[in-house]
Amino acid sequence: MIQISNLKLQIPHTTKRLKEKALKQLHIREQDLIGFRIAKRSLDARKKPVLYYVYTLELSVKNEAGLQKKNLPKNVNVCKAKPIYAPVPTGTETLAHAPIIAGSGPAGLFCAYSLAKMGYAPVLVERGEDVDTRMQDVEAFWNGGSLKPNSNVQFGEGGAGTFSDGKLNTLVHDKEGRGRAVLETFVKFGAPKKILYDNKPHVGTDILAVVVKRMREEICRLGGQVHFHTQVTELLTEEGKLTGIKLQDTHSGEVTDKPTQALVLAIGHSARDTFEMLKRKEIPMTTKAFAVGVRVEHKQSMINENQYGSAQPDGLPAAPYKLTVNLENGRGVYTFCMCPGGYVVNASSEAGRLAVNGMSYSGRDGQNANSAVIVTVTPEDYGTDDVLAGMAFQRKLEEAAYRAGEGKIPVQLFGDFCEDKASEAEGRVTPQMKGAYHWTNLRPVFPEVIADSLEEGIRSFDQKIKGYADADTVLSGVESRTSSPVRILRDETLQSSVRGLYPCGEGAGYAGGITSAAMDGLKTAEAISRVYRPFDISG
Ligand code: FAD
Repeated sequence: MIQISNLKLQIPHTTKRLKEKALKQLHIREQDLIGFRIAKRSLDARKKPVLYYVYTLELSVKNEAGLQKKNLPKNVNVCKAKPIYAPVPTGTETLAHAPIIAGSGPAGLFCAYSLAKMGYAPVLVERGEDVDTRMQDVEAFWNGGSLKPNSNVQFGEGGAGTFSDGKLNTLVHDKEGRGRAVLETFVKFGAPKKILYDNKPHVGTDILAVVVKRMREEICRLGGQVHFHTQVTELLTEEGKLTGIKLQDTHSGEVTDKPTQALVLAIGHSARDTFEMLKRKEIPMTTKAFAVGVRVEHKQSMINENQYGSAQPDGLPAAPYKLTVNLENGRGVYTFCMCPGGYVVNASSEAGRLAVNGMSYSGRDGQNANSAVIVTVTPEDYGTDDVLAGMAFQRKLEEAAYRAGEGKIPVQLFGDFCEDKASEAEGRVTPQMKGAYHWTNLRPVFPEVIADSLEEGIRSFDQKIKGYADADTVLSGVESRTSSPVRILRDETLQSSVRGLYPCGEGAGYAGGITSAAMDGLKTAEAISRVYRPFDISG
């Protein structure tokens, strides 16, 4: 396969035109082209309202070797396409028991899927509920029901990303083709094909729910097992090696011992009780920096106008944005997890504590754009040097948010936030929220330096997107689960100093987002396959 990048065409245009341009670049005739596909497509709006798509294509051509010799060195935009991801187990040790994966978020799910495909018959355990039950629990919570500590926006089948915007882009370098493999797996199980080439692919919460369920069915069909409402509560070790775990049924409370030599800890960033267990077991962890702040809402038409030069552009999706600024006080302020046409969600997972996040449906057709605006915090902000101090810091903010909102999502207009006074009603932007909200003063929820940095950051973003700092902009809080407050250390074999323990994904500090967590899941499956023979052959 040959790859051509940087093919730029004005919108609108036909596929025929794209093909012609590619043939011209390769100096070949149409009959020499066997087939082609779009590997990537990004929007160039620098000359708005005249818009362009910039393509990367993968092409299969006759006499590829000859063409490579002739053309590749001359044209910087033409090269060999990336290899196809296909890991092969090379491990020699015998597994007495199936490998266990804790957590069915993207990291755990892709790890289990990959191990199942390689013949390891993995066991996936998830403390929360299957996705259908979970969706009912979360809807009930958003409609005023009580929070279920093991079935909520953070916990349950599909992990934290299930109720999300389903953005699938990642900054992780994809030399081995894992990122491509993740997107192809999404497509195989129900996502639209365009995610394979869109520069900013997204699927929305509705499609994610379908994909995770079908992946689970495939893991079981390949000989794996999936157990819901089953939590890892203890590690059993002998002489520095993992020998088993304790599993608790979160319905009945019953605890059972399960022997295993390999446990993948793909527990996400909100498994606070599990982090406490790991600390008790003296599993090496370090505290890490993350970021906290608020979610902001604007009208999507205002964002479209700024990004595209038109409030309702024909044939283009609701516009995204990404903003960042470094303040003189040394803090970075940036937008994060921006959801075009989305909703702010009550993403809490602990009673008496409140966290928000953003999600959207695949159509991204809600009236507001929302995004987190967050400020970096480092261990110096946490107050103690305990390894779980970052987690305690998150909890403190979430408790303050819960109090400010009287148990509902606390909301405030940006103008009132600047004046440090409670808001009483909406202005031009109507909050689009999943979960009840309450007008209040959010500023005292944050340490002064964070509140001041948020204000300064939002004001500075107005220079990039006019209207961003309007007094009517809606803020809600707190955005506290932006990444893990700890890193669970692992070596080059991806194991902890306790052999057989594989920290993985976002909670362990090795990913940030759905695709990078899924890629880390694949990487961890490869690491296991380099040590052990497939379970069904050795067993
Ligand atoms: P998680 O997805 O957090 O999964 C961990 C799983 O482990 C959970 O299901 C949990 O129940 C389970 N678990 C925890 N402890 C135990 C235990 N002891 N035993 C058994 N099971 C356990 N990212 C994006 O890239 N794009 C987005 O658009 C996006 N939007 C988001 C919107 C929302 C509302 C939220 C909350 C997050 C969003 N994210 C988004 C972040 C993304 O969801 C995470 O980065 C990703 O899910 C991390 O994957 P993970 O597998 O490492 O952990």
